[in-house]
Amino acid sequence: MNSEGGHALDPFTEELLEELFDATIEPNASDDLRAELRNNMALLKERARTEQRIGAVVDFFSALADAHADYGLTPDHLGVAKEELLELAEKHRKLDEHGVTVGGRVGKALPIVREAKSRIADYLERHAQEAPSGVESWDRILENQARIKKQLNMSDEDWNSYSGQLRYAIESVDVLAEIIGLPEKAAADVRRITQTYRMRMTPYYASLIFPGELNDPILLQAVPTGEMVDNAGIEIPPVAADHSPARLIDQFYPRVVTIKATNMCAMYCTHCLRIAHIGAKDRIYSKEAYGEALDYIRDNPEIRDVLVTGGDSLVLPNSMLEWLLGELDGIDHVRMKRLGTRIPVTTPQRVDAELLDILEASNDRKPVRVVTQINTAREITPVSKAAFKAVAKRVAAVMNQAVLLKGINDTRVKMWKLCETIHEAYVRPYYVFNCSYRNPQFAHLRVPVAVGQDIIESMYGNISGDAIPRYIATAGGKIPLHKTNLLGRKDGNIRMQKPWSGERVMYPDADPKEYARTDFGFGKYEE
Ligand SMILES: *Cc1c(COP(=O)(O)O)cnc(C)c1O
Ligand code: SF4
Repeated sequence: MNSEGGHALDPFTEELLEELFDATIEPNASDDLRAELRNNMALLKERARTEQRIGAVVDFFSALADAHADYGLTPDHLGVAKEELLELAEKHRKLDEHGVTVGGRVGKALPIVREAKSRIADYLERHAQEAPSGVESWDRILENQARIKKQLNMSDEDWNSYSGQLRYAIESVDVLAEIIGLPEKAAADVRRITQTYRMRMTPYYASLIFPGELNDPILLQAVPTGEMVDNAGIEIPPVAADHSPARLIDQFYPRVVTIKATNMCAMYCTHCLRIAHIGAKDRIYSKEAYGEALDYIRDNPEIRDVLVTGGDSLVLPNSMLEWLLGELDGIDHVRMKRLGTRIPVTTPQRVDAELLDILEASNDRKPVRVVTQINTAREITPVSKAAFKAVAKRVAAVMNQAVLLKGINDTRVKMWKLCETIHEAYVRPYYVFNCSYRNPQFAHLRVPVAVGQDIIESMYGNISGDAIPRYIATAGGKIPLHKTNLLGRKDGNIRMQKPWSGERVMYPDADPKEYARTDFGFGKYEE
């Protein structure tokens, strides 16, 4: 406090006033404009004085700052005295609950927000065009649905049921070609490839394809192309044959194992890491096979988390799923489960009341997490979103593992949109996998590690932290691929950079000597 009972100006407000009164810039406003600005300032000043709102003071100071930045005009030019500004700065300080001053707000915070907005302007302009979600594209998808229903002769009941979606699943290239208008040259190649690789998609998933779009991202995921044989020949290399310590089990880690509970999926992905398991035909596994897998888990008390995968764990019949989850819940050292599935994306009709009850019952015993795979925002439609919402209410978490795929999600706009869209659909981005080198079948869909690093890094500071996935390579376990933002160390400080702006900051590290002390907290009271 100074002698008049006023408040000493904070450095931010001092700096702001100095800037406003900086008369070294030659004013460049016409007389008319100057008169208009003077009138405007008088109005804003009056409101700042009379209204008991911080916003009115902020508007006034912001207008002064703009007039200065744009035209070199100081408050003196605009008929505003310094005394009046000091009074209003004091009013602002008194009104603000957190002691934020007008200098901190107008001089610092607002420009920072402006800069932040400019970082996402390009995304906001482009995402609806370049990566529309299935919710945003729903009209177009509904048109596709009507057409496909008619072509396949499906009733509404067929369409809306899981059994109908499976009964009418598209496995024939001729049917596919008709439904999506595949050109004959492409159809001929797909016919050749499907002698080796299985194609199947539900009519629902096929309705997400936009006919006529070259390399449509849904088409690329669902329909095998020539490279799958041309890259690799027809020999399918076995996957993880060196990581299976027991029947149906894969294990990299001491406390987590997977059970490959089925080889079936409702649709088959061109980029499937487990393409060798998927094989040529659907197989039901015997109770003996499951029994051996469960025995292995029982015999290894370190295992606390069991991931039921496949294929797709939710193609198992409800009775089988209920039994398997019950068996796992019955093993004392198994503390939680995960179910790997693309069903809510490819066949959301599968998510019925009985399934939801089974999930909830098991989740009540020990946490269940559902791990899905969504690669494009288009896969989130009102229907798949409703399925995820229903599942999310009954389990501990729903998480996404996307695969970074060329032409499908390998741009900043597409990946941001994917992460934001699934986040809004009750799904948390968990991993983004760099598409594996292991299977030459999908080498044509691979994306360089560095491209993915730039995309994932660009999310920091720009989208919600819990919508940012971890970027992973799979090579006998999951290896994080993130860039580091630590640049070096000097005198107990770490030089870091902000991923969103490149701005460098010195971050004082904890003092190692202090850290080594044992007499901390209540320890220092010891006699
Ligand atoms: C992916 C995977 C896991 C799970 O890894 P998290 O990092 O815990 O998600 C465990 N075992 C195997 C064999 C896997 O492929
Ligand atoms: S859903 Fe999973 S297991 Fe099935 S084909 Fe796709 S990637 Fe492979």
